[in-house]
Order: sequence, then structure tokens, then C-alpha cells
Amino acid sequence: MSKRFGAINVLHPIDLAIEEGEFVVIVGPSGCGKSTLLRLIAGLVGPTGGRVFIDGRDVTDAPPAERGLGMVFQSYALYPHLTVEENIAFPLKVQRLGKAEVRSRVAAVAEALDLDALLKRRPAALSGGQRQRVSIARAIVREPRVLLLDEPLSNLDAELRVRMRHEFARLHGRLGATMVYVTHDQLEAMTLANRIVVMSAGRIEQVGAPLELYTEPATLAVARAIGSPG
Ligand code: ATP
Ligand code: MG
Repeated sequence: MSKRFGAINVLHPIDLAIEEGEFVVIVGPSGCGKSTLLRLIAGLVGPTGGRVFIDGRDVTDAPPAERGLGMVFQSYALYPHLTVEENIAFPLKVQRLGKAEVRSRVAAVAEALDLDALLKRRPAALSGGQRQRVSIARAIVREPRVLLLDEPLSNLDAELRVRMRHEFARLHGRLGATMVYVTHDQLEAMTLANRIVVMSAGRIEQVGAPLELYTEPATLAVARAIGSPG
């Protein structure tokens, strides 16, 4: 698919197939179109050309809620009038679960993300990193089959990043979910990905296993993004 904003071609026609259960990491310099690609998959914007398929179904015209995806975006918008607990529980509303079931699911993700002490607060009373964790909790509480994550750890401190990296790896293993994960962090890309997609200026430069791209980058842009130094 392709995407143009006004006169600017943000995505040249790109073609990407992601397998079920795969952990795909997208890397590339700021402004190359990573978030736009995720937003197209999510249905938050429509493509200028091309189609989006999920599970073999053409979802190009389907609204985001009908695509069965969990998402964490860079702005991690939370509902300001809801508490942390209510924000996390929100996606479960459509599932008609019992109160006890909702509470135990929320408690489990809150514990994994170190949010237990913040459940009664509202987003305005949280730090940026805390909001980001709530946003991750809300995305995973429904255990979606596909998770889209746009730099989900960018505001977290080093220790939490390590913990969350393991949490994503575990989640991937446990749920068998398909993960599409954007990051600037080479270590995250190398340790989490089954395949890495390197983008540059609205194009896909190279797709391959982490070690393959690391040892045999096809272009300078790939070497810059994840190649070995020198
Ligand atoms: P970063 O690493 O900084 O998050 P990115 O790779 O996610 O960058 P995008 O957010 O996808 O980049 O943006 C790609 C290009 O599209 C940028 O030049 C950006 O300015 C432009 N762009 C994104 N959204 C819009 C929009 N709604 N209107 C006009 N231009 C846009
Ligand atoms: Mg982005």
C-alpha cells in the first residue's frame, strides 16, 4: 500500500506480509513512515493506494474496532475521566465478562506493569512513563491475537525497559500473538524480533532475521539501523 499526505509521499508502495505468530520489529530513522505503517494496519488512517488484509480478510474499509488488534501508540491516549483501573478494563467491556473475571484480569496486567498502587488515579495524575504503562496494560488485557506497538518503551527507565522487554517476549510466547513492534532501540530489535523490517524514507530497505541483517546489511541505511559497527 501507499500513503500520501497532501503532496508528500510518506509511504511509497510497500508490500509486507507478516506471518501469524511472528514478532516483527520495524526500525528506521525518524520520519521514515513507521508510525504511518502501523496506523494503516490499525485502520486509523486509510491508504492512498493498496489494501490491508488480516487473516486473509480485506479490512481496508473496516473500522479499527473490527480488526481485532491491540495497540499502543506514541501518544498513548488514555480516557482522562476514567481511573487507571477503568482505563485498563475498558477493552473488556465488549466481552461481557463477569465483574470478578474483569477484576482478576486487570489485577494481573497491573501487577506485570507495576501499576497496582496507581489503579484509583486518573491519567492527569500520572507521569509520562506511568501513562505509557497503563496504555500497554490496556492493549494486552484482552490478549489480542495481533498487537501493534509503537515505541512502547521509549519513556521508561532502564530497569523497567529490561523488565518490559522480557514481558513482551513472554506475552508473545504465551499468547502466540502476532507482534508488530516499532523501536529505535537496537537491543530491543535484536532480542525481540523473529524478523526485522528496516525502513528508510517511506520504503522498505530490507527484511530479514536479526543476525542476517546484522552481519549482511544490504544497504548503508540497514547498516546504520542495525548493522555491526565498522
Ligand atoms: P518517528 O520515529 O519520529 O516516530 P516515523 O517513522 O514514525 O517517525 P511517521 O510518523 O510515520 O514517521 O511520519 C512519516 C512522515 O509523514 C513524516 O514526514 C511526517 O511528518 C509525515 N506525516 C505523518 N502524519 C502526517 C499527517 N497527518 N499529515 C501530514 N504529514 C504527516
Ligand atoms: Mg513514529
